[in-house]
Amino acid sequence: MLRKLFKFHGGVKPQTNKTESTTQPIAQVPLPDRLVIPLHQAVGGHPRPLVAPGDKVFKGQRIGGADGSLSSAVHASTSGIVHDVVPALMPHTSGLTTLSVIIEPDGEDRWGELDKVNYRRTPPDELRDFLRDAGVVGLGGAVFPSYAKLKPGKEGRLKTLVINGAECEPFITCDDLLMRERAADMLKGIVAMRHMLQAEEVLIGIEDNKPEAVAAVQAAIAASGQSGIEAVAIPTRYPAGGAKQLIRVLTGIEVPHGRRSTDFGVQCFNVGTAYSIYEALELGRPLISRVVTVAGNVDRPRNYEVLIGTPMDHVVRQSGARPDSDRYIMGGPMMGVRLPAFGVPVVKATNCILVGSPALFPPPPPEMPCIRCGECAKACPADLAPFEMYWFSRSKNFGKAQEYHLFDCIECGCCSFVCPSHIPLVDYFRFSKSEIWARERDKEASDAARDRFEFKNFRQEREKQEKAEKLAAKAAATREKVAAEGQAGTTSAAAETPDVAAKPAAPSAEDTKRALIAAAMEKARQQKAQVAPKNTEQLSTETQADIAAIEARRAAAATPPTPDA
Ligand code: SF4
Ligand code: SF4
Repeated sequence: MLRKLFKFHGGVKPQTNKTESTTQPIAQVPLPDRLVIPLHQAVGGHPRPLVAPGDKVFKGQRIGGADGSLSSAVHASTSGIVHDVVPALMPHTSGLTTLSVIIEPDGEDRWGELDKVNYRRTPPDELRDFLRDAGVVGLGGAVFPSYAKLKPGKEGRLKTLVINGAECEPFITCDDLLMRERAADMLKGIVAMRHMLQAEEVLIGIEDNKPEAVAAVQAAIAASGQSGIEAVAIPTRYPAGGAKQLIRVLTGIEVPHGRRSTDFGVQCFNVGTAYSIYEALELGRPLISRVVTVAGNVDRPRNYEVLIGTPMDHVVRQSGARPDSDRYIMGGPMMGVRLPAFGVPVVKATNCILVGSPALFPPPPPEMPCIRCGECAKACPADLAPFEMYWFSRSKNFGKAQEYHLFDCIECGCCSFVCPSHIPLVDYFRFSKSEIWARERDKEASDAARDRFEFKNFRQEREKQEKAEKLAAKAAATREKVAAEGQAGTTSAAAETPDVAAKPAAPSAEDTKRALIAAAMEKARQQKAQVAPKNTEQLSTETQADIAAIEARRAAAATPPTPDA
């Protein structure tokens, strides 16, 4: 019986341009002279470097350890020597750098020790740690660490595991070739994921423009004897490969804004990820390579198995870039990003290197004002109002843009594709998102600075208070001690024996102090008295008498009182 399929809202039908790169099997790219392996290749925390310049590394050796939440490990893609651990240009439009391990291959391509795991006998937490340390992340483009998604949820089981083989973006065919050539092993990865998620059923969605892939996966399922796993051919319509769109087509479930598919008992993984999970669990091989499509302005479009860290121009050379090539796009023409240089490395997110030229991608016509035709909203698969988000993004009213669910935009490009005013809507949305993230970061930084300042003030006040309390306590203790000594003196005098009373009493500290002060004042008085006549001899007799009287009063006042006074 044929499975009932559902439609998702919007979508477009761009020219697919997939045939050219599927005529040849997947080829291996030769070892480059140097691999540049960025440590941060997945969503989540930055892995910490585990190697230093001069270290010898083996193929598959961990060179970046998962650090922090959602982090995922990184490995040496071949054996060789670590040349350096430095920031290097990453494959991103921003042109920013990221800490990377540079390896000079020794040409032996020798594997280090590999650990396999029997997933049926391993506790789920250990299995997830194993996949985190194997660096397995989503290969559909999102590079979300897979171990974090392999949790069955509150009920301990999942209704449906959806495997994404739709590959809807034009030019890209790496998943198609993977399914054609490695369906049986990919299926082993799917079975392991199903076990971890305790999924009742598995649906593998493949666009119907890949009949060979559909046939290969169906044959692998039949050969495995597995029940509850189905390869489903779905209508070709971009972006059927979006997770929410594929879930909608296969199950009819509409995942609303702000909700996750797991709230509805569904989880989704890419076919490439399933193959990586097979390699990690059954062969003990971490994620060190992936299949990459090279297409566009090249003589021989093709798919290659490429080591992570291989410079892209080295990969493209295998396909013969044409002389007028002027850009590399990572991904397809709809969602891909233009790269800042030809030599940036292939990373886990690189599903396609699309080589561009002015002829292949001519400059877009000039942007015109929005005519509020609503075509963009009709095409939006995320049910958004792109023209409203555009208006608020353009005026930098980011709060309003967010009210229109800016962050639900999957940047599929359907709105830009249909806009009669040629407005590059996705560029506006990407700009708004990056501005909001930057402001969030700035706000977090200023909040942290303010917290530090307030804490410093609080600490200083607390220290002052503690100091004052200590001084007060010390003064009180001194007063008590003096009072106790005075009392002890009186009591002991009363109880003195005749022998003891005959001895002169030892002067107290207070008496000694008084005597010293009195001596110092007397000395000062005498000095003054000696000086006074010298200074006053020119004065009149009355004045000299006044001064003498003042001096006498001063001297009297300065004389310390006797203990009896
Ligand atoms: S399709 Fe373009 S012109 Fe039409 S409403 Fe959307 S943004 Fe405006
Ligand atoms: S890019 Fe965003 S707004 Fe435009 S159609 Fe896609 S999801 Fe909708």
